[in-house]
Amino acid sequence: RERRSLDNSGGNVRVVVRVRAFLPREINKGAQCLIDMDPVTNVTKLLVPESAENFDPRTKGRKVVEEKSFTFDNSFWSHDEADEHYAHQEDVYNCLGEEFLDHNFEGYHTCIFAYGQTGSGKSYTMMGTPERPGLIPRTCEDLFQRIESNPSPNISYSVRVSYFEVYNEHVRDLFVPRRDPPNYLKIRESPTEGPYVKDLTEVPVKGYIDLMRYMRMGDLNRTTASTKMNDTSSRSHAVFTIMLKQIHHDMETDETTERLARIRLVDLAGSERAKSTEATGQRLREGSNINKSLTTLGRVIAALADPRHGRSGGKKHKEIVPYRDSILTWLLKDSLGGNSKTAMIACIAPSDYDETLSTLRYADQAK
Ligand code: ADP
Repeated sequence: RERRSLDNSGGNVRVVVRVRAFLPREINKGAQCLIDMDPVTNVTKLLVPESAENFDPRTKGRKVVEEKSFTFDNSFWSHDEADEHYAHQEDVYNCLGEEFLDHNFEGYHTCIFAYGQTGSGKSYTMMGTPERPGLIPRTCEDLFQRIESNPSPNISYSVRVSYFEVYNEHVRDLFVPRRDPPNYLKIRESPTEGPYVKDLTEVPVKGYIDLMRYMRMGDLNRTTASTKMNDTSSRSHAVFTIMLKQIHHDMETDETTERLARIRLVDLAGSERAKSTEATGQRLREGSNINKSLTTLGRVIAALADPRHGRSGGKKHKEIVPYRDSILTWLLKDSLGGNSKTAMIACIAPSDYDETLSTLRYADQAK
């Protein structure tokens, strides 16, 4: 398949991978790191775990059987902090976030997804911690730094934010306190703006501190019941949106023109399969609905990444992009195709063979 780089033709998808460090419980178990990354070639290898069956007595290590190899646009080695190639939060921002913000100031919509099983580092990558902020706070900080350092008297900016979650194919406003029964919002479609969430709160924000206050408030409103395996926040898709409006004022003609860019930052639900022994009834339905959004998202991104799609491909070959097959993809339609740039960050745990293989395959089809 033809490789495409980000250019000005729209509809491009950038796919990157990030592997996290061992967690204390993995160290206690004596977990093995199954990931090998080459930061120069961007090849990521997944090794088969060492076991009695593939133990090689000559090397006293694993026999490298069935090693799986993938190439992505960038690979972030965040496994071993002592390594010279270690990718810090700042490196991920400098490599991806900054460039996406450039696109926003050029007038493009952008969308960055974090994909992966629960515990693979999605929230760490998107939100991070107060000491080690992730992509969302860094994007917000850089956004206001750029606005505040804007010396041009004929450009002004307005910034608004919204935050919603898609949970079990329902949409909930995260700027509104939780209610029982839940206050789900309806989706409407406007002929000019496309699909949108009716009555979703959009708040104007004046600066970084203001914006982060809303972000934290929204986080606290995320759905938080728990199952045996993982809590519900890991089963909902959280979509944080920053609307950046640039208003150009032409001094000579006294005319103003506006340009709107939507910045979508999405922490997807955990990609692990609903295991029938763990989840029954309602939980299982949630599981399959999450998979529906994730599978559809995979199909949408694969269709967009296919060189046959888009302006250059003739009508005859134009694939139908299945946006309407899930709530998430339908709502993000404007941020996925056309005048927009998309990135998928595949987050992987270092020692979980099956889940990591399924994440790498998912990401691979998006290239
Ligand atoms: P997810 O959102 O995919 O469920 P989290 O972001 O909550 O996963 O990460 C799970 C745990 O791993 C958290 O304790 C987090 O702080 C830690 N973690 C994730 N990525 C990294 C990383 N790159 N470096 C250090 N710790 C990480």
